[in-house]
Amino acid sequence: MTRIYLDHAATTPMAEEVIKTFTDELNQVFGNASSIHQTGRSARKKLDEARTILASSIGAHETEITITSGGTEADNYAIFGTTYARMNEGKHIITTQIEHHAVLHACEQLERDGFEVTYLPVNKDGLINVDDLKNSLREDTILVSVMYANNEVGSIQPIQEIGDLLVDHPAYFHTDAVQAYGSISIDVQALHIDLLSVSSHKINGPKGIGFLFQRKGIFLKPLFYGGQQERKKRAGTENVPAVVAFAKAVELKQSSFKDSISHYQQLKKAFLNELGNKGVQFTINGSTDYVLPHVLNVSIPKTDVETFLVQLDLAGIDASSGSACTAGSIDPSHVLVAMFGENTPELRNSVRFSFGLNNTEQQVIDAATKISKIIL
Ligand code: PLP
Repeated sequence: MTRIYLDHAATTPMAEEVIKTFTDELNQVFGNASSIHQTGRSARKKLDEARTILASSIGAHETEITITSGGTEADNYAIFGTTYARMNEGKHIITTQIEHHAVLHACEQLERDGFEVTYLPVNKDGLINVDDLKNSLREDTILVSVMYANNEVGSIQPIQEIGDLLVDHPAYFHTDAVQAYGSISIDVQALHIDLLSVSSHKINGPKGIGFLFQRKGIFLKPLFYGGQQERKKRAGTENVPAVVAFAKAVELKQSSFKDSISHYQQLKKAFLNELGNKGVQFTINGSTDYVLPHVLNVSIPKTDVETFLVQLDLAGIDASSGSACTAGSIDPSHVLVAMFGENTPELRNSVRFSFGLNNTEQQVIDAATKISKIIL
């Protein structure tokens, strides 16, 4: 049975060209980018070229990009780096109730360390209200961290409005763009973003690599101490082949940007149409206007998410009940709780399908047909 992979928000397969770049670089670029001999210098050159591609993808300068081990580290660096650098200026942080755990658990640790965190609520569409943010801002707020787009329901936050609002406030503006990057065109200058997290494995690049954009002039306390890599911001020998492959994935995304978005929209539409044609009852969780094109979270009455996911798995369909990091746990999704409240049916009957590069319309139609057979 050929499997139908509909869990691209959890991770994506590496694109063929990215695998080729990665393996070529593994063979060719083994040098340490900090070494001064020629082998080291060629690794440095590759690293610098890749960094330029990453930087230009968000309108940043290459000196503003710090390579990390992925989205989790980028989020942790933004949050702990800011708070421990600025704790003498204030101890208040604002974030949202629907952040990825890389942000939420970091904020919970900050609370244990004596910081005060405001968790902004969201409406049924999974969107914050900028007025709530405005009203929560204080003189001692040092960081606002609002995700660009949510990984479970795909809701896209009003990042431009938040950036505009914070121009006149000293708080740094961090956004976790791990899910948005590649699906939304991002310009950190126009959006007034100070810190932005990205992960390679969500855009058909290798796992274990990502970056944090850190606006020039912003000082973060490093998480790692050791060598002088990454302009002393992130000690540790750089994984040059992975960075070069990541940059390749970025270039591929950029060259197919519009096509891939309309491809995902088409897949979503075909999938929903087929579910409807087959008589499956469902409601879409989250905004239908401000939503990532590749993420679809649906509530299917009378199903139980855990049983349903097993049935999908047995039928050859890979989907998820939300964040991969909480999959397998019986705790309801914190995102759906924030949107719908405790003890609501959506917490027990919602499934996330997320589309990607290699999915075809036939696959999503087949998946919808299989789903109807499970349910009806
Ligand atoms: N932030 C968001 C919104 C995510 O979806 C993820 C991954 O699921 C992460 C952060 C963590 O990124 P990584 O897996 O690269 O550590």
